[in-house]
Amino acid sequence: MEVKSKINTLFQGGLLLFSIAPSAIVFLVLLVAGTGFLWSIIPTLIILLAVQVTGQLYGRGIIRHPFILRVSFWTLKMMQPVLSMAAHTPEKMVIAMNNRKAISDCSRKFRGEETLILVPHCLQNHECSHRLTFNPESCERCGRCPIGDLLEIRSRFNTHFAIASGGTSAKRIVERIEPSLIVAVACPVDLSLGILDVHPVTTIGVLNEWRHGPCFDTWVNPAELEAALEMFLQ
Ligand code: SF4
Repeated sequence: MEVKSKINTLFQGGLLLFSIAPSAIVFLVLLVAGTGFLWSIIPTLIILLAVQVTGQLYGRGIIRHPFILRVSFWTLKMMQPVLSMAAHTPEKMVIAMNNRKAISDCSRKFRGEETLILVPHCLQNHECSHRLTFNPESCERCGRCPIGDLLEIRSRFNTHFAIASGGTSAKRIVERIEPSLIVAVACPVDLSLGILDVHPVTTIGVLNEWRHGPCFDTWVNPAELEAALEMFLQ
């Protein structure tokens, strides 16, 4: 509950920061034009309030387009150094907001064939000689990395499965398969940008673990993907 409200505060905070500049400009223009303090401050407050209300409507699923999430995200990104925010805070806000919305909207159940499990190539053990981005089936399920277990889950739920070598490759895979549901594993940056990119496809984001630092022999708990598929699939 605490995490949920922290995420919401961050999201609304990004929107507040975004609305400060336009409302200040409106205030100054009206003041200079001689409308008086009261008639200058009222439109200013209306702009601030309207942006906050739009954020609330997005959080409640009444507005569905992620434009408002993008605005909050990019504002937080720009202000990150000034606010001394921890690394990847805006990215994690996008992922958490997206997952929350996807779960609260999950009245529709998806079929396996319209679902894509999309994972990054850095999950593959660096000593493995198989070129999985071209053919994931060449994995020998040796257990040195989570790919083997993810392929088992793919077979059980009868979904698509793809390994992306980067953001562009992930985009191409999504365009080729045209899934209705994506369960994506990636680092905070790729995951948040991917989520904002693939709208209106329902996406569940799972962060990979950096046991050896970023982009190298990363890890994901297959049970997390399994739980997401159980929740969304028929
Ligand atoms: S599980 Fe598959 S991908 Fe991972 S190291 Fe073994 S053979 Fe390679």
